[in-house]
Amino acid sequence: MIEMLKDYINQIESCTECEMCLDVCPIYQDGKNNTLTPLYMFKVTKKILNNEKLEQEDINAPFSCPKCEACSNICPESINVPAIVAELRNELFNQKYTPLKNHAAISESILKNENSVNKTPDIRWDWFPKDEEFPEDSSTLFFVGCLPCYFIKDGVVSSYNILKKINYDFRLLKDEGCCGSIFYDIGNMEQAEILYKKNLDKFDDLGINKLIISCSGCYKAFKNFYPEVTGEKIDVVHIIEVLNNELNKGKLKFKKLDENVTYQDPCNFGRVFKMFDEPRNLLRPSCNLVEMEHSKENTICCGAGSAVRSAFAPLSIRMALKRVDEAEKAASTLVSTCPFCVFNLGYAVRKNDRKIKVRYITDILDEALV
Ligand code: SF4
Ligand code: SF4
Repeated sequence: MIEMLKDYINQIESCTECEMCLDVCPIYQDGKNNTLTPLYMFKVTKKILNNEKLEQEDINAPFSCPKCEACSNICPESINVPAIVAELRNELFNQKYTPLKNHAAISESILKNENSVNKTPDIRWDWFPKDEEFPEDSSTLFFVGCLPCYFIKDGVVSSYNILKKINYDFRLLKDEGCCGSIFYDIGNMEQAEILYKKNLDKFDDLGINKLIISCSGCYKAFKNFYPEVTGEKIDVVHIIEVLNNELNKGKLKFKKLDENVTYQDPCNFGRVFKMFDEPRNLLRPSCNLVEMEHSKENTICCGAGSAVRSAFAPLSIRMALKRVDEAEKAASTLVSTCPFCVFNLGYAVRKNDRKIKVRYITDILDEALV
């Protein structure tokens, strides 16, 4: 609501226009467009608070920002730009400037197909091994997610294989549905609340009290958006946290693959949740891990997050290609703990005829597991 946007005015007024954020902002660095900067987000905020008429570029600005947190990470005034962007998106939705066309289509797909990728629900489990029994007897759910189930199937199979090989107690859920992170991301809080409550009730009815997640988008949704929107919490762990714990207990052993691998820190999993060491602890004994010039806190966004890929694909793919350029200098394989990174970076590689392999992290770990 507009009241919440007002709360950020003090932060906005503390901006000294030092422009340090511009050096790290991937949407500004893409084309040096002055409407794609943290400073422009502040301008749009002031226009809304002053009831001024908005232009299309004012609407596009917050929806082009993947909320990568690079600016807030570097800002000497600690201005929380991604939080301001989130409030702008809410207000634009409330004032009916949005949803943008492609976001409306995704929302419709979730309501109609229970997935965000406009596919029929009956092919969601096509990746599941034909000769195995569908696991349904545990209070821990491996919530696979829409994008992985339909588009990052190798990553899902390798994650599932590892959990099975180490006899981890987990189940899957035939009518899994969508986590609904996009409703939050596009500012449709009413729909977010309906879906989040429906999912939590479903888990409750089935005695599910813990989620294992392989997608950074689902992870942020269940960990942050669900409690914020519904007031209810559920125990959520990323599969990399699960595997890192098992490694520490001595339950995972790897052989070292002869492969130079570089790791993309996803903005959410890394800068937001500070999961920098866990993936590296697993990769180090499994392959030759080589760091890119920008990593950990200084990672560069893959360009896909916060529904930017669906609204502004060319911008998103150019951001991915920039990351691919850096990865190619370091290694022959690029891995990530986020299926959105794998999807977008992999797309940029194929579209531009690049050679580097882009894989979900468990593809490497499953191959190296002994
Ligand atoms: S880094 Fe912070 S203070 Fe400097 S221009 Fe950006 S938002 Fe303003
Ligand atoms: S969150 Fe990332 S993309 Fe958005 S304004 Fe900040 S640096 Fe730019």
